[in-house]
Amino acid sequence: MKIISKLPSVGTTIFTTMSALAKQHNAINLSQGFPDYDIDPILKDLVNHYVQKGMNQYAPMTGIPILRQRISEKIKTTYDIYTHPDEEITITNGATEALYSAISAFIHPGDEVILFEPAYDSYIPAIEVNGGCPVPIPLFAPDYTIPWSEVARKINGRTRMIIINTPHNPTGSIWSQSDIESLETLTQNTDIIILSDEVYQHLTYDDTVHHSVLKRPSLRKRSIVAMSFGKTFHVTGWRIGYCVAPPQLTLEIRKVHQFNTFTINTPLQYALADYLAESSRYLSLSSFFQAKRDLFINAVRASQFELLPCQGTYFILASFKNISTISDTDFARWMTTQQGVAVIPISVFYSDGTDENIIRFCFAKKNETLLRAAELIRNIESQ
Ligand code: PMP
Ligand code: GLN
Repeated sequence: MKIISKLPSVGTTIFTTMSALAKQHNAINLSQGFPDYDIDPILKDLVNHYVQKGMNQYAPMTGIPILRQRISEKIKTTYDIYTHPDEEITITNGATEALYSAISAFIHPGDEVILFEPAYDSYIPAIEVNGGCPVPIPLFAPDYTIPWSEVARKINGRTRMIIINTPHNPTGSIWSQSDIESLETLTQNTDIIILSDEVYQHLTYDDTVHHSVLKRPSLRKRSIVAMSFGKTFHVTGWRIGYCVAPPQLTLEIRKVHQFNTFTINTPLQYALADYLAESSRYLSLSSFFQAKRDLFINAVRASQFELLPCQGTYFILASFKNISTISDTDFARWMTTQQGVAVIPISVFYSDGTDENIIRFCFAKKNETLLRAAELIRNIESQ
């Protein structure tokens, strides 16, 4: 049978690949971004409670009302703005589905989508499967600053969407107030949609602030924000996130969502709604992860790696130039199979494979895991 692939250059994601390699070689897995510690028992009990109570049938297509209400309250608490639970918030199958449904709803064949690289790996396939043309703008170590004059040059009549991600995976950088202002200025009086991936919204460090597009009225009216409970409550396997967008945009996104996933897991939605009632559960995240970041930084300080700045997310980059000159993909394999610590190479997040000899560590791990990994990392010698 002749198959004409819609995604000929897509293989298995680097996260799946490296986690499988870590398992095969019994390496400490600092590659894929997920916690290795248990979740809050209160959250587990809430899920059991709602399963036992019989909340086991289809939820409404848009998400259960009480969860959307609680999300609206959370947005009020964090950004002091009102979002309409029925018209602006949709529960999705993780942020991945929010991103996919948003791209599918608005990208027509030939539309251009500007994005910044290194880019999270789901963006480009979602654009391409819909016939859109990705327009990548590369960012470089150590600061990964946005080249705004280049962005201005890339915007044209075919630009339908700009995808942004702050705090940024994989680099750990965050957008400044002036980045947000530049985006606002460049896109005002256009119909360009901003798709803002803010899954690490609560993970910013050293008193830095997350600048959400939701806080800027002129951006908010044409922005779609993707969020994830997987990141916020350490439950990446639950596959629940949500999407916040103005009513006109939400209407179109729901048309895709309805026939993509239809509805999201009912008892988990009820459990999360209850759990959200206490804001300290998400407001404490930055101090929780900053402590892990600092523990890891201190523990690997004496190694041959050069750590890059990490202002947000639960990832930190490191240059291995002092250890080896091989490619970052070979280096990540070598780390996993020979040194016992699995990591992610950064070149895979660039369309042109830019390789600056940098790998990514995930520090959403038990302190003992981080310390065990750090010991192995300190022992790695220049090759
Ligand atoms: N965007 C970014 C930047 C991510 O790192 C991830 C991975 N967690 C996602 C989106 C997808 O999130 P989810 O697991 O909720 O689908
Ligand atoms: N977001 C996670 C990471 O960056 C992985 C998600 C996935 O495996 N698709 O590691």
